[in-house]
Amino acid sequence: MARDSFDRLEASLLLCPQCRVAVPVRKRLLLILPQGNKIEYVCTRCGATCGDTLEPDQPPERRRYM
Ligand SMILES: [Zn+2]
Repeated sequence: MARDSFDRLEASLLLCPQCRVAVPVRKRLLLILPQGNKIEYVCTRCGATCGDTLEPDQPPERRRYM
């Protein structure tokens, strides 16, 4: 089973609007919400925001849809 490698896909490349290339990004915690943590992806080269996401508090397998 190679499902472990799927979980470690964190250090991904995102397209930076400033650099105009895919860059390694750093995660920055923006907000802690009841449904999870709001994470911002910051370019490690220029510091621009490349995107954000809502990380569920629980592991993905335990995620519940209401
Ligand atoms: Zn950049």
